[in-house]
Amino acid sequence: MFTIKFKIILAYTTVFGVMFTIFAAIIYNSTKDASFMKLDANLKSYSISLQTEIEELDDHVPIDYKKLSSIREDGLSGEKFQLFRSNGEILIKDSILSKIPKENVNRVFNNSFIYENRKVGRRRYHVLWNSFETANESEYILETAASVKDVHEELDRLFYLFLFIIPAGLIVTGIAAYFISKAAFKPVAKMANTARNISGENLDRRLEIPKAKDEVRALSETLNEMIERIDNAFKSQKRFIANASHEIRTPLTVIQTELEIVEKKIKNNELKEGIKNALSETEKLTKLTSSLLTIAKLDTYKAKLDLSQIRIDELLAECAQTMNPTAIKKNIRIALSLNDAVEMKADKEKLKSIFLNLIDNAIKYSKPDSRITIVLEKSSGNKINISVEDTGIGISPSEIPYIFNRFYRSDEIRAEITGSGLGLAIAKEIVDLHRGEIKVTSKIDVGTLFTVVLPTDIS
Ligand code: ADP
Repeated sequence: MFTIKFKIILAYTTVFGVMFTIFAAIIYNSTKDASFMKLDANLKSYSISLQTEIEELDDHVPIDYKKLSSIREDGLSGEKFQLFRSNGEILIKDSILSKIPKENVNRVFNNSFIYENRKVGRRRYHVLWNSFETANESEYILETAASVKDVHEELDRLFYLFLFIIPAGLIVTGIAAYFISKAAFKPVAKMANTARNISGENLDRRLEIPKAKDEVRALSETLNEMIERIDNAFKSQKRFIANASHEIRTPLTVIQTELEIVEKKIKNNELKEGIKNALSETEKLTKLTSSLLTIAKLDTYKAKLDLSQIRIDELLAECAQTMNPTAIKKNIRIALSLNDAVEMKADKEKLKSIFLNLIDNAIKYSKPDSRITIVLEKSSGNKINISVEDTGIGISPSEIPYIFNRFYRSDEIRAEITGSGLGLAIAKEIVDLHRGEIKVTSKIDVGTLFTVVLPTDIS
């Protein structure tokens, strides 16, 4: 595809090319006409000089050829002449001109001057025929000619000059068009760059409005209005999610508590099973709403971290303990390797939600009777690495780039294992807020290793 810049350069060069060519053709033809007019005038003047001499010598037939030969005319080169009687009889013959057919001998009586271009051998001549009558009523036809070599040489020079000037002019035009269009599109390129960096996460950004009141300014303003509308739509959507999940949470907690009481009291086994199922579904709903609420809060109060001095080793042990009952249900053992006591500044609740989610995933995506390993270790540059490793189903390489996107869930497990696709997205956002990094390596049917790298000093 051709870019607009390329099309402008092409259009400029074509227009200038056509203009240059027309201009060159006009100059060439005018020079040619002017040169031939000058040649006509010189030839006529030469012819009249000869005529005057012939009229004077008319009494002394045969006319003295040598006397006539000495007549010269400025501005002519290689001039020649022949003299005929009116009946076509040749009186003075020129070796070269005699090769030209004499058809003008008769025509010249009706038109006193006839000009034409003739080629004799490889040479070109401009020829003038004219008839005249002398005082003693003798009628003569005079044929004069001059070489057009000089004229053609001058025209050739002009032609070759244009042959050089036109392409050179086109190159200069092309370069000028390139720089002009580059300057004209610079604000557009800048706009495109800014627009490219605007995503759902930074919709508060706006395009720079150029000072000049031109089309680019109108475009930037229109785009900014559009971003504003999208931003508002996003904000109201996030507000709705935050409000809805907040409103849903309270009735869900009530339902869950009531169901738990009923489950304990009820004796009928069939009913008990039904209540258990209802409880498990309510738990899933509670998890989903709490994830939605977390994400809505992250969007709204993004920059805010509730920092405090924490013991990360203790936090990890607490998370492992919280998840242990879930692991035991699948006969999965959680192994902890927390050698050192590590203190750091962080948002405890937010970090807790990350590790709970990573351990929950490790349990969810592992086969029963397996093992999950949680390792905490210090790394260089005041950083710590926390890894959660399982020997579960693994993640295919094609899916790895997407697992941190909101609501992304792999198609194969969607039907079998419940989840919202929000856990890792939340984890990444929280890790980013702590200026850390979350990495994953995985192999299908071998296992997955998530590593969270956090700075111990975030302030
Ligand atoms: P979900 O609620 O689906 O678990 P997450 O955001 O926590 O959402 O994870 C996104 C996707 O990443 C999951 O649907 C799953 O396909 C994959 N995934 C996450 N953790 C693991 C793991 N430990 N083993 C295999 N796949 C995983």
